[in-house]
Amino acid sequence: MLKIESFNLLPSFMTNTWLLWNDETHYALLIDPAAPDKKLIEIIKDNNLQVTAIVNTHGHGDHIGGNSYFKDAFGCPIMIHEDDANMLINNKKNLSEFMGTPMTSYPADRLLKDNDIIEMGPDKIRVIHTPGHTPGGICLLVDKLLISGDTLFEMSIGRTDFPGGNHQMIIDSIREKLFVLPDDTVVFPGHGPRTSIGMEKQNNPFLRG
Ligand SMILES: [Zn+2]
Ligand SMILES: [Zn+2]
Repeated sequence: MLKIESFNLLPSFMTNTWLLWNDETHYALLIDPAAPDKKLIEIIKDNNLQVTAIVNTHGHGDHIGGNSYFKDAFGCPIMIHEDDANMLINNKKNLSEFMGTPMTSYPADRLLKDNDIIEMGPDKIRVIHTPGHTPGGICLLVDKLLISGDTLFEMSIGRTDFPGGNHQMIIDSIREKLFVLPDDTVVFPGHGPRTSIGMEKQNNPFLRG
């Protein structure tokens, strides 16, 4: 059975680092590791999980700050959409310089595209390209679980005033690629509490009408 849990590794930005795993196969994905964290490594080891990939929903510093640390620990590939890949290795592009702690990550091992499949053992996770917050923003879908990065939040959407942001594009991404999913799809965003596609379709003030 698939399990998902959030960890707050970067309290100043309240970024959700998501650990997705299958409690039968013990394969896991680490999504948006915000910062190095020894305790999370221990939790993963104590539960006998094997991290098959680090996946970034986009290239902002508060979502990639733990990439190199966790890659060193688990030896797994780093994956990001091709349009955000250069943010990993440029502290201006990933905004970490602007956030006050310039950092970079190891470069991507795999460049993702819309509709790509990430394998987590026998589980297949689908990449949905949702540009708007950044050019290479993605959501990840498996069964009725959607990891939405900074594209869709509970009652809100990602900022589009950073370089590469585009308001109309994020609205189109959400309407055309996320709101077509079943209402009971549970949404696990990059910040804040979980929600569902049905809840947001009805109540999200940025997307009504
Ligand atoms: Zn962001
Ligand atoms: Zn963020």
